[in-house]
Amino acid sequence: MRKIRDIGASLLWNIGMGPLARALREPRELALAYHAIGKVEGSFAHVTISFEALKEHISYLRNRGYVFRQFRDAPVSGGKNAYIYFDDGFRSVREVVYPYFKNERIPATLFITTDFINQKKAQEVYLTWDEVRGMIDVFEIGSHGARHVKLNKIDVGEAEADMKRSREEIESHMGAPVQSFSYPKGRSSPELERAAARAGYQITTAHPRFHKVRPDPDDTMSIFLWKIILP
Ligand SMILES: [Zn+2]
Repeated sequence: MRKIRDIGASLLWNIGMGPLARALREPRELALAYHAIGKVEGSFAHVTISFEALKEHISYLRNRGYVFRQFRDAPVSGGKNAYIYFDDGFRSVREVVYPYFKNERIPATLFITTDFINQKKAQEVYLTWDEVRGMIDVFEIGSHGARHVKLNKIDVGEAEADMKRSREEIESHMGAPVQSFSYPKGRSSPELERAAARAGYQITTAHPRFHKVRPDPDDTMSIFLWKIILP
């Protein structure tokens, strides 16, 4: 089935449907969600995108005239912007993405789950605070919650406390204000958006201004292109 989907996506794009749809509705504010890149960490193959695919995405976005931005710049930015972000805090962000983005001068956002950072048991998979601190010339450090729970499944007061605790932990480790929040599993709601504001965030990945794209490991380039255009 996947093969048929891939061929269909490529065919429709190549006969001109894709470029036409793009001319009509190419989003101006694109938020692209990644997790791990390159080597598979632990059992995380389902969220690991190849480095080659990431580089292809970057080159496409550049060719289309997107400017790469961090979430904290979203409230003031105009034009055509791409907000690339990495959820959870995987080590490959340090090992693979950081040197590449630094070299290419691509600003991005790293949303960390504070309970995952510095865990002795998880150090093969997740970053340490020292590593996070060493990447602030490329990444805005945002929060992906304290415990990585689906916030729409718990009491809103408890969700707000989780968001607030993770913000305070990051701020105490980084010595700088945290402005942006990414919802674990993408689970948000208008009520949670208000809770995020009360917890001290200026912007979240659920803000309606963003067209959100989540590349998956087995996406072909045509699928990626369609994901940018389709709602
Ligand atoms: Zn996550």
